[in-house]
Amino acid sequence: MRVQALHKSFGKVRAVDDVSFDVRRGEFLTLLGPSGCGKSTTLRLIAGLERPDEGEIEVDGRLVTSPRRGVFVPPEKRGMGMVFQSYAVWPHMTVFENVAFPLRVRRKPQSEVTSRVRNILEIIGLAGLADRPAPDLSGGQQQRVALGRALVSDPTLLLLDEPFSNLDARLREGMRVEMGELQRRLGLTTIFVTHDQTEAMMLSDRIFVMNGGRVEQAGTPREVYEHPASRFVMDFLGRINYLRAHVARLTNGRPGVRLADGAEVALVVPDGVAEGSAVTLAFRSADVELSMSVDGTGWAGVVQTVAYMGGREEYVLKMAGSDEIKAERATENLTLGTPVRVSVPPHKIRVWAD
Ligand code: ATP
Repeated sequence: MRVQALHKSFGKVRAVDDVSFDVRRGEFLTLLGPSGCGKSTTLRLIAGLERPDEGEIEVDGRLVTSPRRGVFVPPEKRGMGMVFQSYAVWPHMTVFENVAFPLRVRRKPQSEVTSRVRNILEIIGLAGLADRPAPDLSGGQQQRVALGRALVSDPTLLLLDEPFSNLDARLREGMRVEMGELQRRLGLTTIFVTHDQTEAMMLSDRIFVMNGGRVEQAGTPREVYEHPASRFVMDFLGRINYLRAHVARLTNGRPGVRLADGAEVALVVPDGVAEGSAVTLAFRSADVELSMSVDGTGWAGVVQTVAYMGGREEYVLKMAGSDEIKAERATENLTLGTPVRVSVPPHKIRVWAD
């Protein structure tokens, strides 16, 4: 599956702006980004629910979209299965008939319909509910029916657009795990759209982080999390702290930065950023180390808020300058007003030139 230089505008909005990628067979690829970044439009272009202004889409070596060459294969002829946020099950049909629907449209013989649908119901864990009217199902079960309907025609590509977002938190967690197992077991080539970074991290072989209609970074979950290519990507993938600083030669003669309150941090500064330049240090809350020994090394701060999150606590620390830092710890119970020392391993700090 290949997407080449896709462009799609709605009026003045560039919803998809020069997006290209390959999806490998059996791969789980996620388009991740905030609302409006163009991920759903990209998926709809692949499905054939929208026509691009420019670009090409190829599935298994077959060109399905190319305005330049006058090619546009309609959605039902693309051999793709789709699941959307809204379950879109037919309320007047049973579970069996809902799943059978795509085969009925293709006028498949009854014997084939029966065996295929039974097989799919087994796979999605609804074998016992074949005759149940669809409205009598729970949200999770309805979403499974939608998945079954997407799988029944043996799609070459499975397209998922925020399929779990209507489910409550516990169900969502369970469905994610199931989806991951199913995808691997069936070797389904999948493109998944979500704004939820945890979901993306859990399920994906590769994540494409989108921003303003473009792919800002592509990589494995570990690559995009640990080596974010931009401030936007870093921000989107975790709770981030920002501290203002200036590039400086430190008291010990080494290169580094100086914070607003005079604290020094030995750091590798990006090439071409001169001494005296303003920079922003960015680091994740999870990488903040706290010590309660007031004389220790690190930056001085005071615990300003505490939120117990079940098994872990989140703090906001007021620093000696005007900055605040978010931090988290597994169990330590730091009370309001506790003076602490804050440090972050230098390799966990990114320096962005202002
Ligand atoms: P969301 O998760 O909110 O759907 P998204 O990242 O999937 O966001 P898209 O739905 O692809 O984003 O939308 C990208 C941009 O294109 C947005 O600015 C959106 O308002 C616009 N857009 C999408 N579809 C249409 C349409 N049919 N008509 C006009 N503008 C549209």
